[in-house]
Amino acid sequence: MVFTPVMSYYLFTGNDTVQYRLDNRSLIYLSANEGMVSVHNGNKNLGKFTYVSIKSENPNGYFRIKPVWPSLKSRSYDDDLVITVYEGKLKLINHVAMNKYISGVVLAEGGPASEFEYYKAQALISRTYAVRHINKHTHEGFNLCDRVHCQAYHGRNSVNSEIDNCVKSTDHLVIVDKLKEVILSVYHSNSGGETANSEEVWSEALPYLRAKKDPYSLNQRNAKWTRKVKLSVWRDFLKSVGFSDKAINKHVSFNMKKRKQYFCLGKECIEMRDIRDRFKLRSSFFSIKQRGTYVYFHGKGYGHGVGLSQIGAMNMARKGFLYEDIIKFYYKNVQLIPYENVRKVDHSEEEFLFVTY
Ligand SMILES: [Zn+2]
Repeated sequence: MVFTPVMSYYLFTGNDTVQYRLDNRSLIYLSANEGMVSVHNGNKNLGKFTYVSIKSENPNGYFRIKPVWPSLKSRSYDDDLVITVYEGKLKLINHVAMNKYISGVVLAEGGPASEFEYYKAQALISRTYAVRHINKHTHEGFNLCDRVHCQAYHGRNSVNSEIDNCVKSTDHLVIVDKLKEVILSVYHSNSGGETANSEEVWSEALPYLRAKKDPYSLNQRNAKWTRKVKLSVWRDFLKSVGFSDKAINKHVSFNMKKRKQYFCLGKECIEMRDIRDRFKLRSSFFSIKQRGTYVYFHGKGYGHGVGLSQIGAMNMARKGFLYEDIIKFYYKNVQLIPYENVRKVDHSEEEFLFVTY
């Protein structure tokens, strides 16, 4: 991959010794070579190291990286980079100040042109998630990965400085429950008009993740959807999950006005989310109608429905609600406090799926 420092000079160190000073916009080539990081500046080989760190001299420094093999789009990151080799490949760890990281996450989650109060709410959620899961990858030598497994992070926010201001205006704050424990700040795209209880998606019933009516998500993007599936495919599915022939051959008419956890034919039931998973539906909040040789899923919302609805939150922001109102609407009985004051609980073993879409 190619490394390019921007705006500031970077120092290159191997095994904690300063090796090179990198000029602004110079190109450094890094590759994995026999378990070591091989470094080249375009003219000559600078050596092989087990551990390379590239640090900014300037607090506003950032850099660009461009994977060459495999060839991927370049990305920019704030602050520092540590490079090692793991299983024959370069392993890159971005050491980045919390708020800069949060800005990158908010941009990845909320897009470049959303409402300020929504950005602030998303900043709180993302900081809360980061603080609760700060040890999620400690055994691998870093805190959080950049995928949906932790939180999407595609590098620095370089497109909208208002996001940085929104992140700073909620500086240090995280969402806590009554016991001052950092909450599990799950969210989804659109609730479809009603959020879900945490135990309908995961096993644990959390007091702040309660189902409630959500008028702000109605008549918005992703509020409604329809899917049709061949009746024969639907019946094969019912058979594969254990329904009796008698149940399978019944005419299907399943109405869901309020969220339900189970789909039943007579006394035989399965969980709604099993149907969602099999047919890759946008949510598990849908009615089913049989017409001719097809069944139609008429659904509401997008995502698991637990916690905050991002589209509902954006709509609340447009209607003039402040970020604190938005957070307290979607999470029950919570408060916002600086993360230095939270009650420490170890959540490193937690394996909740962060299914947003
Ligand atoms: Zn992760």
